[in-house]
Amino acid sequence: MNHLFFDLWKNFVHIIFPNRCIHCQLSLLAEESELCLLCLALLKESELSGNHPYRSKLTGFLANLKVVSGYEFHKGNVIQSVLHDIKYKGNLKMAHLVGYQLYKKFQQELAGVEVVVPVPLHRVKMQSRGYNQAMELIKGFVLPKEVVVLDALTRDKNTATQTNKSRYDRWVNLEEVFVLKNKALLGKNVLLVDDVLTTGATLESCVTALLKGKPNSVVIMTLAVAV
Ligand SMILES: [Zn+2]
Repeated sequence: MNHLFFDLWKNFVHIIFPNRCIHCQLSLLAEESELCLLCLALLKESELSGNHPYRSKLTGFLANLKVVSGYEFHKGNVIQSVLHDIKYKGNLKMAHLVGYQLYKKFQQELAGVEVVVPVPLHRVKMQSRGYNQAMELIKGFVLPKEVVVLDALTRDKNTATQTNKSRYDRWVNLEEVFVLKNKALLGKNVLLVDDVLTTGATLESCVTALLKGKPNSVVIMTLAVAV
């Protein structure tokens, strides 16, 4: 198929079946993808600058711990639609697009990172969903060849009884716990990626597991933070 014909065909298909903006549902122009320009501008407005209040909560584990998030998440805003589309509608293209935005925004934080670890889903959820949204965000990053993406953590059902738990564990009260399955983190600069930061309990549990591998530093990066 030559290019001209392909472009005509693409435009024809677009007129018959216009793609819709995932947030406002308006028909997208041929050059727009997933979000219309207006919603894209709204997304830009929800960008966080600098560190957020959860940082102090999560630091204290490691001197070299940094926490960065891309966008503010609240009910009804664009990033909520984005996350919903990624998690429940299988919109992996969206995940890669916003993953790339995250990568561009935090290139400075990414410099020196040697191992990238996604927050895993529980095995059962992974089977039903078919993909891990954190891993799909990472696919949007443009990583140097030497950087390793490592599925280093597993998420297991917490079988420990409440009485055997430390006060910290009871506070976290996760029905699921994270276990380090791949210990190739010794002395490495690690990036931990998740879709959204809410209470910080999940990420705190992940960092606790990661630290067993004795990394040099950990950067936590989430697409959004609930504010
Ligand atoms: Zn829109």
